[in-house]
Amino acid sequence: DDKLQYVSDSIRMVPDFPKKGILFQDITTLTRDPKALKLCVEAFVERYRGQKIDVVAGIEARGFIFGPPLAMALGVGFVPLRKPGKLPGETIGAEYQLEYGSDRIEMTVESITKGQNVVIIDDLIATGGTLGAAVQLVEKVGAKVHEAACVVELPELQGRAKLKATNVPLFVLLEKA
Ligand code: 5GP
Repeated sequence: DDKLQYVSDSIRMVPDFPKKGILFQDITTLTRDPKALKLCVEAFVERYRGQKIDVVAGIEARGFIFGPPLAMALGVGFVPLRKPGKLPGETIGAEYQLEYGSDRIEMTVESITKGQNVVIIDDLIATGGTLGAAVQLVEKVGAKVHEAACVVELPELQGRAKLKATNVPLFVLLEKA
């Protein structure tokens, strides 16, 4: 597909960031290109228009870039899933394992409610730990995760298999080696 190829080509690959040996997919070169940004958001909108979505939930930080324009196009609200200690008021969290140690994401308790149909969005799925925790979090309040959506999948890191355990479908625009 020409459009997705354009989006793919707009992502800069940065070797040894944030650590030696990591090839970082830099989506800021995508977002600063108006054509790539538009094609990318439109691809998500096309996927979810007419699907009875109630909420778009985005994962900090780069899910905050793609989530709001999708939510606006669908005519629904946007809910941020954040790193610990960032949200005021009562929150609930879900932990996930990192290579060394663990991390946690949080959500304001009443921001998503029982029975709502939610799309979770982030820029990229690597090991799937982050998206898996996001799914747990949204399901904790009794909502349904319609689908998890990302711009980029790194298939070698097996995130798709990890997410399969949650029974939530994964939709990605691009696969990168
Ligand atoms: P996972 O939990 O699937 O291993 O890692 C995915 C999370 O790490 C996402 O929130 C994503 O933003 C971030 N991440 C990991 N690698 C990259 C990368 O190469 N580029 C970008 N933009 N984000 C990454």
